[in-house]
Amino acid sequence: MKDSILVINCGSSSLKFAVLANAGQDTLVEGIADRLGANGSSITFKFEGQKNVIELEDGSHKNAVSHIKNWLSRHPNIESSLAGIGHRVVHGGETFSKSVLINQDVIDGINECAQFAPLHNPAHAKGIEVAFELFPGLPQVAVFDTAFHQTLAPEQYLYPIPMHFYREHHFRKYGFHGTSYRYISQRLEEIASGSDQQGVLVAHLGNGASTCAINKGQSSDTSMGITPLEGLMMGTRSGSLDPSLLSFISKAENISADEALDILNKKSGLLGVSEISNDCRTLEEAMESGDQRAKLALDMFAARTAKHLASVATTLESIDHLVFTGGIGENSSYLRQVICNHLKALNISIDSTLNENAPRGESLNISSKNSNTNVWIIPTNEELMIALDTISLIQH
Ligand code: ADP
Repeated sequence: MKDSILVINCGSSSLKFAVLANAGQDTLVEGIADRLGANGSSITFKFEGQKNVIELEDGSHKNAVSHIKNWLSRHPNIESSLAGIGHRVVHGGETFSKSVLINQDVIDGINECAQFAPLHNPAHAKGIEVAFELFPGLPQVAVFDTAFHQTLAPEQYLYPIPMHFYREHHFRKYGFHGTSYRYISQRLEEIASGSDQQGVLVAHLGNGASTCAINKGQSSDTSMGITPLEGLMMGTRSGSLDPSLLSFISKAENISADEALDILNKKSGLLGVSEISNDCRTLEEAMESGDQRAKLALDMFAARTAKHLASVATTLESIDHLVFTGGIGENSSYLRQVICNHLKALNISIDSTLNENAPRGESLNISSKNSNTNVWIIPTNEELMIALDTISLIQH
């Protein structure tokens, strides 16, 4: 039976993939091609509990997809079950407000949105073209990180700058992590029936991090902007700050505005403040052994996350649920606790025992008895969402 989907997340230098079967519930094989376009690229397959790494002499995206195809041809049961391919696409601009079946117009649209995602969108378009070439006949679907936020009202998505920038250049807030937020909204409805008619705050905290307010199932505000730089402090991104800093940094270092922007994107955040690492786990270990820089970085991260949760909450009528997700949100009991400590004024509080003992990979309500808001940990699953969208679009 043809019911499995190849999910592809094609970045500029990496390509993650997975084959999901049984309505996206089972992962048959998954893996990642790394360091594409550079020396030392490789592709890793995880199958039946075993990891197999293959060095790639030709580190092109096409060669990575060819290896996936070759692997599939050696596993004909999986290959013959493929019904379609689902691609994650970072930026859909104002063109794409939901997932779509891919044709040439869609590829052109993805390329047109590349001005705001110059590293990601061209890589996605390339991945799609290669997949059409190597898997002729399989329908393909694009799932956009921005699409879920196309429900924002103009007073939320417009920047208070001269309007012609929006009219002529589409400069506005787009928001990201939309596939994760859509998954969380649906999953929450499964475990807290009626939440799709309520006010929900979500903190998606990974290496990239953002917050979202979901009002009756629709995104009403989110912290990321025209690019993922706005909003929270992240692994290496500064998040929101006074834009004058861009000019101060470029003058102080005698560098261009683009180079200063690069510092805000790649050398700031947890990494810039701690001067140790962008990785939350590494910083928690350093903090536990007494490193004050690591503690400061984590505490700043928590304070700014709380601030951006409160900020997007202004678009809700009530805060019925708060969900933590992403690698940090799902695993860091320390940060969940400090973030909620900052939200006391909103009557949001968690039970420290439940928080500290939360089992990995499971959905759990960790609110304290007197919290006004249900506080949840819910593992996100963007691949599942991509597979489900693909199944639904190719069946029509
Ligand atoms: P992204 O998808 O944005 O690359 P992830 O959602 O995978 O990121 O999250 C990565 C982050 O999650 C890293 O900072 C990592 O340290 C953190 N993380 C993962 N597991 C743990 C853990 N057990 N405790 C604290 N942080 C964790």
